[in-house]
Amino acid sequence: MNLNHTALRQIPLPSRLPKVGTTIFTVMSALANECQAINLGQGFPDFDCDPALPKAVYDAMQTGHNQYPPMAGIAPLRQAISEKVLALYGHHYNPDTEITITAGGTQGIFTVIACAIGPGDEVIVIEPVYDSYVPSIDTVGGIAVPVQLEVLRNEAGQVSGYAIPWEAIAKAITPRTKMIMINSPHNPTGMVWQASDLDRLAHLVRDTDILICSDEVYEHMVYDGQSHQSVARHPELASRSFVISSFGKTYHVTGWKIGYVAAPAHLTAEFRKVHQFNVFTVNTPVQYGLSEYLKNPEPYLSLATFYQKKRDYLRAGLSNTRFQLLPSPGTYFQCVDYTQLGIPEALMNGVDFCQWLTRNIGVAAIPVSAFYGTPVESGVIRFCFAKQEKTLAEALTRLQRI
Ligand code: GLN
Repeated sequence: MNLNHTALRQIPLPSRLPKVGTTIFTVMSALANECQAINLGQGFPDFDCDPALPKAVYDAMQTGHNQYPPMAGIAPLRQAISEKVLALYGHHYNPDTEITITAGGTQGIFTVIACAIGPGDEVIVIEPVYDSYVPSIDTVGGIAVPVQLEVLRNEAGQVSGYAIPWEAIAKAITPRTKMIMINSPHNPTGMVWQASDLDRLAHLVRDTDILICSDEVYEHMVYDGQSHQSVARHPELASRSFVISSFGKTYHVTGWKIGYVAAPAHLTAEFRKVHQFNVFTVNTPVQYGLSEYLKNPEPYLSLATFYQKKRDYLRAGLSNTRFQLLPSPGTYFQCVDYTQLGIPEALMNGVDFCQWLTRNIGVAAIPVSAFYGTPVESGVIRFCFAKQEKTLAEALTRLQRI
């Protein structure tokens, strides 16, 4: 065949996501590697999981669990999740019709959006917002409607915390609002919802058909004796919610990409229609390994104590710097205000500051400004403390030099 230039021409592909580049997490991890900086940017542990977990996966492979599992996930894993959620939050999800195993939290969130949102449907997101939500909405032709967390400041003008913008959320609701996306414990701020917040949300959506997508991937990282306020605790909200969780976060295996979505049967039925033709199903031996491992609740029940120690260690070290600590009642992230460090004005933009910090101080972080559609420069960055104490110690030594 004679292929001329025309036959080989590059077909133009109009982008569905013209504004999307490489994620800030990838960019900062690459820069951290290049500079041999300590990577407190992208959220992942620098320590390994309990060896019992890969052993359980290996055993599953050895015993022949190597073919397709059922589309929704293997029954023992869905059963174990159902029991866990019932024990912790008092809501019974039917494992056969209301729980689906996904290839991680992000895929679960994408599939929730893909099954529920059509062209022109509005989805309220609360900024700073996790970076996958808006591109997922854009991909299916939905319209993301951002509202912003209220930024609280101390007398010196530094950011001291955030508050849920109830009035702005109420104002953003229109007849086209199809879904509100929430996330507690919240990435990047570490903020957690209270039971009264769930009541308030329920009140807001009571007379509407608005669905809730509740990203709860940090559910087992809530500190200072507080409890995680899953929407599953709230029958009225649970009846209109998709709840997302992630084993990667809970068991220190972010690279395994496995999580689940729990939702009432009629919502799960639609979710599974999309899931079936997207991933079809999630790898079998990991599901068997996890279903064995989940029999012991101790690892997830002790996770808050484990991470609170790391949080407190990082906070104690940072209190000897001019970074202003924000509260971190949940997640494995600690946010700080960097505006009082005496850094030249030109470096005060969040992305520039994080690049400066990585190159010159040898510690990578993530700017909170990157979690806004139009960057809001409030002078706050996020450190991940899912690290060994020696990693945190070295990072603190460096940060204390500023
Ligand atoms: N969830 C992780 C974080 O917030 C990053 C995951 C990713 O790199 N996409 O750091």
